[in-house]
Amino acid sequence: MTNLICIVCPRGCHLTVDEKNGYKVTGNGCPRGEAYGKNELINPLRTVTATVKIELSGSVKYCPVKTSAPIPKKMVMDSVNLLKNVKLKKPVKLGDTVLENIFDTGVNYIATKTMEA
Ligand code: SF4
Repeated sequence: MTNLICIVCPRGCHLTVDEKNGYKVTGNGCPRGEAYGKNELINPLRTVTATVKIELSGSVKYCPVKTSAPIPKKMVMDSVNLLKNVKLKKPVKLGDTVLENIFDTGVNYIATKTMEA
């Protein structure tokens, strides 16, 4: 048995996942908690937020980005490290792709803010 707190919504239900019984989840207040509890033990995923450098009007600023979908939790730190090599040199719009296909997951980093000179 593993105890977790569901982070899908602010209610924060206390979940118990029974690995020996087909990952049966109890304590969830809705079906999303059941899915979260199972995934957390079988293949935990995370949406990642970070920043990348962007050069606008001769000065370097930071553009906020996030993954377009959750990625495996074990890839989070490596995916953030990939961004250290990214330096945008032109304006970006909200939703623009900043880095494609992170570790062949099909997930991109996208800008979460429009930044123009
Ligand atoms: S189980 Fe449902 S109600 Fe409870 S915290 Fe998760 S999403 Fe919210």
